[in-house]
Amino acid sequence: MVRAALADLAVHPIRLVAVSPLIRSRPVGPSQREYVNGAAVVETRLDPPALLELLQDIEARFGRKRQGQRWRARTLDLDIVLWSGGCWSDATLTIPHREFRKRAFVLCPAARIARLWRDPVTGHSVGHLEYRIKRRVDRSALAP
Ligand code: ATP
Ligand code: MG
Ligand code: MG
Repeated sequence: MVRAALADLAVHPIRLVAVSPLIRSRPVGPSQREYVNGAAVVETRLDPPALLELLQDIEARFGRKRQGQRWRARTLDLDIVLWSGGCWSDATLTIPHREFRKRAFVLCPAARIARLWRDPVTGHSVGHLEYRIKRRVDRSALAP
């Protein structure tokens, strides 16, 4: 499904520059399903709100239902993580994505294709953020 959604993106005014390998991960929150996560670098003339709208159209087409509650089992979630223009903040869109620095399932695939991209808020590269979170994950695995 992720691959089909990516193919869908590419028919819009969006160029797929790089796509990461897809990585399986455990769910966050109440959902019991496993997820597949991936990252893509895309190039587009659309501004961030227009891109978000398009991503939400694709989510809807793939059967995602907005149920008011986050983290429900869903078919597809397409988020904007970083943007070459730096930060964006309005009522419906925040870039960088607010949670991405804490999420191995975002950083691991992103680091495969955008290791040198920088988080404009902390100044750290995606590669460095991935390194930090992996260290944290390793340490928590050792904890009693
Ligand atoms: P999370 O934000 O924790 O990843 P989610 O992706 O499951 O949660 P959604 O239900 O997909 O949450 O989105 C909720 C709202 O988040 C969207 O309607 C959108 O307006 C807003 N939003 C804010 N910043 C972003 C972003 N960078 N990418 C995508 N959606 C965003
Ligand atoms: Mg999300
Ligand atoms: Mg989302």
